[in-house]
Amino acid sequence: MPADQYAYGDPTTRYPVISPPVQQQPEPGIQSDMTPVPDLGEDSYRGTGRLTGRKALITGADSGIGAAVAIAFAREGADVALSYLPEEQSDADHVIEQIEAAGRTAVAVPGDITDAEHCRALVDAAVEGLGGLDAIVNVAGKQVWQQSIEDISDEQFEATFKTNVFAPFWIIKAALPHLKPGSTIVNTASLEAYVPAPDRLDYASTKGAINNFSKGLAQQLISKGIRVNIVAPGPTWSVLQVTAGVDPETLPEFGKSESPIGRAGQPAELAPAYVFLTSAESSFVAGETLNVNGGMLTP
Ligand code: NAD
Ligand code: MG
Repeated sequence: MPADQYAYGDPTTRYPVISPPVQQQPEPGIQSDMTPVPDLGEDSYRGTGRLTGRKALITGADSGIGAAVAIAFAREGADVALSYLPEEQSDADHVIEQIEAAGRTAVAVPGDITDAEHCRALVDAAVEGLGGLDAIVNVAGKQVWQQSIEDISDEQFEATFKTNVFAPFWIIKAALPHLKPGSTIVNTASLEAYVPAPDRLDYASTKGAINNFSKGLAQQLISKGIRVNIVAPGPTWSVLQVTAGVDPETLPEFGKSESPIGRAGQPAELAPAYVFLTSAESSFVAGETLNVNGGMLTP
């Protein structure tokens, strides 16, 4: 692990090449029970005031990429409203502790984002708790592997689309009246948006939809001074992988062969992309997909 995200060095060895043991948890999973526990940047992310005074709503903020983003945002000076499922409270408590240790406000809003009413209540709670809202970061996601299309139940197909596509739609729509010029939206796609794994048909197609939706929305909202961008992660070590996100037998090799860098990414390595797209530094960037995937080629 580097001293901080600015420490110069060889990216191939910057984080360890991990060989996780076969392990499985029921969805949504508890990150602190994983082997190894993903690196959220707790001991490395150094803020430099890039998001001073910003008020951000982050979904999936208890673990993995969303949690790393929440910690980074707080250390950059933002107050954060965190969305996650009630079962994930222990993971969320760890992130809230990190946000408060950075001297920022954390507003916890547990609940199920597959419910449109909850998405609207989530936005209201964020606005009330933070005293406004100027950054939306949709990171929550559902991914369950199935060998064949015949194994994907109607319920799974619908739940994956509701979590990954409908929820960002509901949240952005509810947040829009609160977003002043200068506000930002960052959605989370995936390499799977362009290179769908055959055993993740529902998941991969939601990621294509998110990428497409975000690019269209970016063109619509730029005239209001609101920038919409996308982060597309590649294989990143997170609890999503051990809650039937991938075939458990493949876990020891996770991330080693897909990406040219030869290792899985850590959530800590994704956070700076979200910081950049939310900060005013990216003022001329809209409708862009920032691929953070260890060197895999994208369209
Ligand atoms: P993660 O499991 O740590 O985070 C996903 C989060 O989604 C959960 O913590 C949970 O809070 C939230 N969530 C799921 N269903 C929900 C629901 N019904 N209501 C409320 N919250 C819900 O895993 P992660 O890998 O950090 O995933 C974050 C995002 O990154 C996802 O959108 C995922 O598709 C995307 N992504 C991950 C990878 C990877 O390799 N890990 C690769 C590409 C894209
Ligand atoms: Mg979680």
